[in-house]
Amino acid sequence: MRARNIVKLIASVDKLDSRSYNQLKDAIEKRDSIKFVSRLLNENCGDISCPYCKSQSIQKWGMRSDMQRYRCKECRRTFNTLTSTPLAYLHKKGRWLEYAKCLKDGLSIRKAAAKCGVHKNTSFRWRHRFLQNANEIKPGKLSGIVEVNELIFAWSDKGSKKLRRKPRKRGYKSPKHIPPKSRVFTLFCRDRGKNTFDDIFYRFSADNLKPDLSTLLTKDTLFCSQNKAVYMKYTKENSVRHGVLSIPKQESVKKDVVHIKNVEKYQFDLQVWMVRFRGVATKYLHNYLSWYREMDEFDFEITTETVLIRAMRPERYNTNHFR
Ligand SMILES: [Zn+2]
Repeated sequence: MRARNIVKLIASVDKLDSRSYNQLKDAIEKRDSIKFVSRLLNENCGDISCPYCKSQSIQKWGMRSDMQRYRCKECRRTFNTLTSTPLAYLHKKGRWLEYAKCLKDGLSIRKAAAKCGVHKNTSFRWRHRFLQNANEIKPGKLSGIVEVNELIFAWSDKGSKKLRRKPRKRGYKSPKHIPPKSRVFTLFCRDRGKNTFDDIFYRFSADNLKPDLSTLLTKDTLFCSQNKAVYMKYTKENSVRHGVLSIPKQESVKKDVVHIKNVEKYQFDLQVWMVRFRGVATKYLHNYLSWYREMDEFDFEITTETVLIRAMRPERYNTNHFR
């Protein structure tokens, strides 16, 4: 724009009525927001390599939609920092930071949609795209005393248009009332450093737990759990040091250190936090577990910028959650 036109534009601001002034203000804020988000994503993308052939030999290739574009010298394809990430092909970039704040605050899909001025379907899509990478960010090892416990959820087809069973009245009095075929087990392992691992199982058995636990635990780990058959079998077969709490004797602490109070507190807080969603579909349960685990990792003081940057990380989503 020419200098004299800018002077005219600035001069006309005083003459605007309140409606026009607000429209202009919104347009400027929107542009600022897009620029801020783009800069945040451009500056925090880590080491850039070609998403197609993984080559490190790349060159800058201009800007588009405020995002830096690159070209791979090997395969000659162009890309930006969002290519092959969960945030690729999402629109309305200027509202992503506000949406990250909604995630941080644990808002429901409809409330987040209203706050960001997007459709509820967009809000739903954004939620699961933003949480996709959180599934990958789990501790690889736990150390010291590891408290282990499981939580049973009822299978939910929420949102599905084809039910494979008869509709039932909502809710069960307790997990014991859930029919065995409708049970979904979530395993929680938490060490005293507050590192938490979780996973979902359709069949809860020592053999199914083994792949997770054998990589998660070290030989110095003290495995603390109640004397449930699955844990007893796993620790016996794999020679894991086991601090056992007897359920019939109602033992809650043994030798001052053997207890599962931390993991029980984590599970209780998670269930309270999930009440706001009024039930979640089982196929998305892992996203909610990851969402809560991410919040807990930061003691619920994660910044909105961090939520957005973690959502961009290019690790691919693993769909094999059930065994
Ligand atoms: Zn390439």
